[in-house]
Amino acid sequence: MAEATKTKYVPTMGLEIHAELKTERKMFCDSVNDPYEKDPNVNVCPVCMGHPGTLPVPNKKAIELVMAVGFALGGEVAVNTKFDRKNYFYPDLPKGYQISQYDQPIVSGGHIEVTQSDGIKKRIEVERVHLEEDTARMQHEEGGGSLIDFNRSSIPLMELVTKPVIQTAEQARLFAENLQQILRYLSASDAEPENGTMRVELNISIAPEGAKEFGTKVEIKNLNSFSALEAAAAYEIARQSELLEKGERVVQETRGWDEVNKRTFSQRVKEGAADYRYFPEPDIPPLVLNKENGFDRDSIVASLPELPQAKRERFIKEYGHDEQTVAVFIANKKLADYYEQVVSEFLAWEGAKAGNRDELVRLATNYTVKNIRTLLDEEGIALEELKITPENFAEFIHLVRGGEVTSAGARDLLVEMARSGGDPSEIIESKGLKQEHDTGAIGAIADEVIAANEAAVADYKGGKETAIKFLVGQLMSKSRGAANPQVAEKVLREKLD
Ligand code: MN
Repeated sequence: MAEATKTKYVPTMGLEIHAELKTERKMFCDSVNDPYEKDPNVNVCPVCMGHPGTLPVPNKKAIELVMAVGFALGGEVAVNTKFDRKNYFYPDLPKGYQISQYDQPIVSGGHIEVTQSDGIKKRIEVERVHLEEDTARMQHEEGGGSLIDFNRSSIPLMELVTKPVIQTAEQARLFAENLQQILRYLSASDAEPENGTMRVELNISIAPEGAKEFGTKVEIKNLNSFSALEAAAAYEIARQSELLEKGERVVQETRGWDEVNKRTFSQRVKEGAADYRYFPEPDIPPLVLNKENGFDRDSIVASLPELPQAKRERFIKEYGHDEQTVAVFIANKKLADYYEQVVSEFLAWEGAKAGNRDELVRLATNYTVKNIRTLLDEEGIALEELKITPENFAEFIHLVRGGEVTSAGARDLLVEMARSGGDPSEIIESKGLKQEHDTGAIGAIADEVIAANEAAVADYKGGKETAIKFLVGQLMSKSRGAANPQVAEKVLREKLD
C-alpha cells in the first residue's frame, strides 16, 4: 500500500460487541445457563425453545449486571426501560423474533479510555448497551443437514455498540480488550472471543479526509480473537483505501475474516438496512429500575470493584511497575489480588523501612511474576488451585533473601510448597534444604578441600586469585550445595592466608 493513501483517506470504525452474561439461569426462564455444556439440548424448557403460549419472565440478575456495566462505563443507566421484539426468521430462533431492546436500552452513553502503544490516551465513546437473548447454536453437517442445540437459546446476552469514533486498528483492539477486562472484573461475563462468550463485529467505512459524509459501511464478522480484530481492521482500511484510490466504489456488505490467509472475504451483500419491525414485547411489562422495584442503584454502584484503568494507575504509582509488568497484573485480576497480599506480607516479614521499600517491592514483584506464573504454567493449574498461600510465598521470598535456603534448594522448596501447601520454614527443616552458614561446619569441609587440592592451594598462595573460585566450587560441591558461598570463600581465605 502506498504511503500517500493513508493521508488521503480516513477510516471510521465502530464496534458491536455481544457478551454472554454469567447468570445461573437463562434470560427468561429457569433453564440453566451453561455455555460450556457439551451434551446438546439438556438445558432447555418450553420457554427457551420458543413454544407458543409460553411466557417470558426477565432475569433480574441479568438486568443488574447490565446496570453495573453501565455504571462502570460512566454511562446513563435508565430508570425506565422495556423489552422489544426484533422480528426475523432463522432456524436458530424458533419464535420468529428475538426479545431485545430497541428505543429504551438499559444504558446510554459511557466510554472507555484506552492507552495506545505510543502512550497517547484515546477516549472511545459508547452509544448504548442493551440486554437481549442469545439464539440457539446451529451445527451444519458435512454432506448436508443441520443440527440445532438449544442450550444456548435465551442465554442472557449483552450488546454494546460504540459510537463511530474509532480511527485505527489498534484502537479497535484496545477497546475490545479493555471491555473484556471490565466485564471480567465485574464478573459479568467470561468474555472470551475464542469460545464465543464474547463476539466482536467491526463496522468500517473510509472517506476522503475532510469529507462531510461517511463512506459506505462494511461489516466484518467472525472475529475470533483480538488479534483477528486488529488484523481485519488493518486489512479493510488498506482494501477500501485502495478501491477508492482506483476510483472504484466500496460495496455495502458483510465480510468474514479468513484467519489462515489473513484477509476478509465477502459473505453477503446488503441491500439497505433490514427491517426488523420492532415493537414492544407484549408479554413483559415496561420496567422501572429503582429501589421500589427491587433495583437498588446505589448498592450496585457501591459494590463496583476497582476497575482495570484505576487499578493500572494505582499499581504504577504504588509499586513502580513498568508497562509490561502492570499489563500482566491488569490482565489477571486474581494474580493482582494475590500479588498485593504477597507484597504486604513480605514487607511485614522484612520490617521494611522507607529506605529499602522500593527494592523489596521489586523483589516481590519479580518473584511473583516469575515463580508463580511459571508454576501455574508448568502445573497447568489456575491460581485458585495453587496451594501456596500469599503468606507462605512471602515467607519464601524472605527466606531466600536472608540466605536461609540454598539457591538450588529454593526451587525444590517451591515445588514442595506447591505440592503440600506446607509452611516453607518447616519444609526447609524436614527436607534438609537449609543453607549452611556455620563457619565450624564449613571449616571442616574446607580442611578436606585444602588437603585434596594441593595444586590449587599452591596456585592461590603463589598469587593466582582465580584459584580461590575453584576451591570454593570444590567446597560447594562437597557440601552438596548446602554451604553459603560467601561464608565458604571467607573461611577458605582465612585458612590459606
Ligand atoms: Mn444483538
